Amino acid sequence: MNAQAIEVRLVSRPKGKPTLDDFAVIETEIPTPAEGQILVRNLVMSVDPYMRGRMNDVKSYSPPFELDKVMTGGALGEVVESTVDSFKAGDVVLHQLGWRTHAALDAKYAVKVDPAAAPLNAYLGVLGMTGLTAYAGLLDVADFKPGDTVFVSGAAGAVGSVVGQLAKLKGAKRVIGSAGSAAKVRHLIDDLGFDAAFNYKDGPVAEQLRAAAPEGIDVYFDNVGGEHLEAAIDSSNLHGRMAICGMISLYNNTEPAAAPRNLPSIIGKRITIRGMLVADHFGMQQQFVSEVAPLVAKGELKFEETVVDGIRNAPQAFLDLLDGANTGKMLVHLAD
Ligand code: NDP
Repeated sequence: MNAQAIEVRLVSRPKGKPTLDDFAVIETEIPTPAEGQILVRNLVMSVDPYMRGRMNDVKSYSPPFELDKVMTGGALGEVVESTVDSFKAGDVVLHQLGWRTHAALDAKYAVKVDPAAAPLNAYLGVLGMTGLTAYAGLLDVADFKPGDTVFVSGAAGAVGSVVGQLAKLKGAKRVIGSAGSAAKVRHLIDDLGFDAAFNYKDGPVAEQLRAAAPEGIDVYFDNVGGEHLEAAIDSSNLHGRMAICGMISLYNNTEPAAAPRNLPSIIGKRITIRGMLVADHFGMQQQFVSEVAPLVAKGELKFEETVVDGIRNAPQAFLDLLDGANTGKMLVHLAD
């Protein structure tokens, strides 16, 4: 067999925290594009927390990964062969067949991107899915208004870092972030302009949030769930609004989590809590890019990346993401 392509397969469903044994890195043949397809050599791929949910065999908004099959996810690559007029060799495309070095896909599932308009990696992060999640979650789901005090958890990550900076740029009174290390806390304040930040591992989140937001919070952008959500309810002002984007603290749980113990206080405080899925907000894509791309180009909205090299290291990159090894977007470079 002509072994020139490499792909990553899920070979067992993790119980609790995933391990490298749940993945297999397989050498395989480069696929041949069928009529209507393009062959793409992937340059960079995304690892994302939602992929943990897809490793479980449960019905969810995103179907489970199939065992012993190559995994999928956001990727950017260069077209090397095309059977359609709309794409030619050399075009750079965004698509969903990551976790492999080479992908043959229907042309209709590929979106051309302009490598001259922004650094390529940005299309998988600040100008891509995680950026849109932050933008739509803050402005639409949480109905952010200038003058709001905003709290965001997972604040040094891909989504959270954009949420906090956008809130500042759009006139928040105060922006508070939580993250899992002293270095990340410093980064939020020194580099990203947060007004306050704390390490959630240093002590009870409710106490640290109360200290950071003595006048309470109006908006909570939840990336973490659990104790963070309980703390946000505790510190919420009247008519507080919460966008529930992710609950990463629960993703490896093997038992259902205890509910926030203070749920009844959402009644007296008239808190609005809304779950969100980025897919419901693709209609905002143009508005998002036209507003955020110039902010990125001018350096007013900063984006960090943690980049791991090589497809063989993709499983470890994913495990590291769940452990907080990343600042900003976690990506895997596949090009030689
Ligand atoms: P991040 O870049 O934020 O990476 C994940 C981060 O989560 C880690 O860096 C780590 O940072 C933090 N983390 C891990 N375990 C815990 C824990 N037990 N408690 C607190 N923090 C923890 O990922 P994304 O920005 O891509 O995603 C952020 C959240 O948004 C996730 O929950 C994700 O599922 C969700 N999401 C939802 C979407 C939607 O459509 N609803 C779309 C995209 C993302 P630290 O060092 O600070 O612990």
